Amino acid sequence: MKQIEISAATSIVVLTGAGISQESGLDTFRDAGGIWARYDIDDVATPEGFHRNPPLVHDFYNEQRREAAIARANPAHIALADLEKAWPGRFLLVTQNIDGLHEKAGSKALFHMHGTLDGFLCEACGGRGSWSGDMSISSTCPLCGRSGTLRPDIVWFGEMPYHMPDIYRALGEADLFLSIGTSGTVYPAADFVREARQAGAVTIELNLESSRKGHGLFDIEIEGKAGDCVPTFVDELLKGRIS
Ligand code: NAD
Repeated sequence: MKQIEISAATSIVVLTGAGISQESGLDTFRDAGGIWARYDIDDVATPEGFHRNPPLVHDFYNEQRREAAIARANPAHIALADLEKAWPGRFLLVTQNIDGLHEKAGSKALFHMHGTLDGFLCEACGGRGSWSGDMSISSTCPLCGRSGTLRPDIVWFGEMPYHMPDIYRALGEADLFLSIGTSGTVYPAADFVREARQAGAVTIELNLESSRKGHGLFDIEIEGKAGDCVPTFVDELLKGRIS
């Protein structure tokens, strides 16, 4: 396998999913007892579901926003923020998560490709901005002043994720790609590992259990809880012990 040099020329792209926030007390989607076991995906994570029953969708995200607001970053989020600070080359963290735990840990070079619970999107004026507290069918858009037009700034199934040109550019230049706490079932994120491999990157997965065992997509698969294995991995990487 290619040597991963700690140099200004070495570029890292990290993809995270719900698994990295599990130890902060936030449910994943697909694990037993996860969010999809309690809600129907078509009802709460599609534009059609929202237009069918806006109060239900607002309730669903209001509950998640309240939980995320009190959740704390765990050692895995903190290790990635530390890696960004210590890494001399390019670093980009792409998260599928809608919680704000990477920000709480101090990450800066961060894209929320699926949006964030702390954002509003106005269906009337198209404006976006930050939002805190509950949202309802009578909330008023801070930009255009209309009410009944706000939705959470979340990318739902069938919608285009954010920042895709920048993400694909970074993947095309990556030397190291890390996939952490994601089941690899939601596209286009599930394909990022292939993009990075095509660019010649070393690909490494850190997950509770290997998400795509036998597919040959990852050069290294590290199984374990993110809160344990991410800090250890980052430490080894910064000591130049991963190759
Ligand atoms: P997923 O639920 O499909 O998969 C989670 C993965 O994390 C699984 O492979 C599981 O084995 C692993 N995992 C569970 N606990 C772990 C732990 N402690 N340490 C390491 N790995 C662990 O989640 P996904 O792949 O991110 O699915 C994509 C969608 O889920 C995204 O669209 C995202 O917006 C959404 N989501 C986000 C949050 C959040 O913001 N915290 C929560 C739930 C779902």
